[in-house]
Amino acid sequence: MPWATAPDASTSEPGGRGRRPAASSSNGSHRSRVIDFVAMTLTSPRYIGVDVGGTKTLSVLVELPPHGGHPIVLDRELLPSRADSDEAVGMIVQAVTALMERAATVPAAIGVGLAGFVDRHGIVRSAPNTPGLVGMDVAGELGLRFDLPTLVDNDANCAAVAAHRVVARDVDSLVAVTLGTGIGGGVVLDGRLLRGANGFAGEPGHMVIDPDGPECPCGQRGCWETFASGTGLGRLAREAVAAGRAPRVLAAAGSVEAVRGEHVTDLLHTGDDGALEVFARFAGYVALGIANLILLLDPEAVVIGGGLSAHGELLEHLVGAELDTRFATSVRHRNVKILVGPGGPESGAIGAAILGAHRQAG
Ligand SMILES: [Zn+2]
Repeated sequence: MPWATAPDASTSEPGGRGRRPAASSSNGSHRSRVIDFVAMTLTSPRYIGVDVGGTKTLSVLVELPPHGGHPIVLDRELLPSRADSDEAVGMIVQAVTALMERAATVPAAIGVGLAGFVDRHGIVRSAPNTPGLVGMDVAGELGLRFDLPTLVDNDANCAAVAAHRVVARDVDSLVAVTLGTGIGGGVVLDGRLLRGANGFAGEPGHMVIDPDGPECPCGQRGCWETFASGTGLGRLAREAVAAGRAPRVLAAAGSVEAVRGEHVTDLLHTGDDGALEVFARFAGYVALGIANLILLLDPEAVVIGGGLSAHGELLEHLVGAELDTRFATSVRHRNVKILVGPGGPESGAIGAAILGAHRQAG
């Protein structure tokens, strides 16, 4: 089989290199965690990572043991996200302040991740969840407020560095893909986060895979995320329902127009043929984009996160089967690990903390 998941979960590093997060409970992982803990108690600096999501902002206080040890989350703060610029920055300040006060500590640096484009100078160029931050130097604002090294980056870049440190520690090159409302992406190539000329590298959601495809909010047609995101799953489901192929999905939603991706995923555990057919078609589109990314970047691992990775085992199986058959050229002569959903809900905030540490290190 030219693609593979981790060959032996029992050798997993902390966080698990196996298919499921549960792999982290292996003995080897436990030993590593003990070693990490011992290292942490000696010298580990602390960082704060903030993940600004669509509705919630999750902030964590993290210790990062030396030599790439497993990050240890000491405390967390969950606050609502705000679209307005002053309120959005104010919410981050509130969270960081709360974590510092509770721990009676000052972190070595702060990292913030948000959906959108952040350029090489730290200016937010687009932010669908927090439009008020567009044009702002958020890191500069926070740096002035706290007098600490601060970095703001794309949330998928944060997920990529978290995956590199937590999930795939022995891998030098990986692609992290986040399947949510849209598709986020981050690339670690030869051990370094890929940035590009403007800082926008590794954003595959708007790769056009069908020039005659559905309109994307970005203005193009047939972007990958019009098929392979939660939004795309909903559209594929409505097509199936309209053609009479998924009656239980229709019954759950009430009408064709009301069908969303969740109506499909909610039925997967029942073995409903219609829901499974829609999800398999969706997985085919996920595999299509991943095949192209593998050809372009030659990663050792592709880490799939985001809300849809909750259906990891099925998605991993379907994507793997598609790569083996329809997209065999992309995986020939390679041994690409496909890991679905191993990062957990805090991976974005942890990754932001790790990038904050990079900024501190210069
Ligand atoms: Zn697009």
